[in-house]
Amino acid sequence: MELWYTEEHTPDVRFSIRVDKHIYSEQTKFQRIDFFDSKEFGRFLTLDGLMMVTEKDEFIYHDMIAHVPMATNPDIENILVIGAGDGGTVREITRYNTVKKVDMVEIDEQVVVTCRRFLPQTASSFDDPRVSLYFEDGLKFVRSKNDEYDLIIVDSTDPIGPGEGLFTREFYGNCYKALKKNGILVNQHESPYYYDNAENMKRTHKRIRELFPICRVYQAHIPTYPSGHWLFGFASKTFDPLSFDAARWNSLGLKTKYYNTDIHIGSFCLPTYVTEMLQNA
Ligand code: SAM
Repeated sequence: MELWYTEEHTPDVRFSIRVDKHIYSEQTKFQRIDFFDSKEFGRFLTLDGLMMVTEKDEFIYHDMIAHVPMATNPDIENILVIGAGDGGTVREITRYNTVKKVDMVEIDEQVVVTCRRFLPQTASSFDDPRVSLYFEDGLKFVRSKNDEYDLIIVDSTDPIGPGEGLFTREFYGNCYKALKKNGILVNQHESPYYYDNAENMKRTHKRIRELFPICRVYQAHIPTYPSGHWLFGFASKTFDPLSFDAARWNSLGLKTKYYNTDIHIGSFCLPTYVTEMLQNA
């Protein structure tokens, strides 16, 4: 008998991975959590039947969401991470000795509990003494924050279900307020390729652009996300990610598997159709 995990990327396109074993399933108050083992992608986590992380390609997403802002402002000390229950983002940012405090706000404690158990590859740094975990809605958490963070990373699910509020004008406005005067906001920015993802991406971009003076988008190839072409948003009050000190980042000697200072620059070079979508958003 063959077992396949299948995700509908559009009503006419499906993506499948052959599964060795469905190892865990749980319905929480917020979403359904599943873990699978597979030959090609190793162990992977899905939420409500949508791919979140696989052991094989998570390094691409986590390198790009963490190191691009960290290299842009090497003096980042206080960070807020929203979502990110698998732990991969916290794992990457806690590699910087310069980071003093990381607040992580995940709505669903069970994602952290189960990732500690089933995905130790990503959930490896939750016990770092600089990290404080809050299990609540990120939308509510930022409302009361003012001038507190150098960097906010929004590592959320898509804008359906519990993640919906993390794509609203109210949320981005509160992130702006929660950031210090040199603050940076990075978010997972959906994909430009399939219609529904592209609509989310344009709406998100428009909302962020209305608030932040510097607003750019960068890309990475993530094989298990719809179309494999994924975007990240970079919004900032002062820092331009394209004028960063590559030598300073390289002098840190951090070993990364995807991120490097050439890809940092190159990832902001977007295909024409994506640039046009963003301009017309
Ligand atoms: N890398 C992933 C992706 O783009 O598919 C995201 C991974 S991470 C597991 C996303 C996390 O965001 C989930 O664990 C989910 O529980 C959390 N989340 C969703 N809505 C949230 C909210 N309103 N506040 C805080 N966390 C939220």
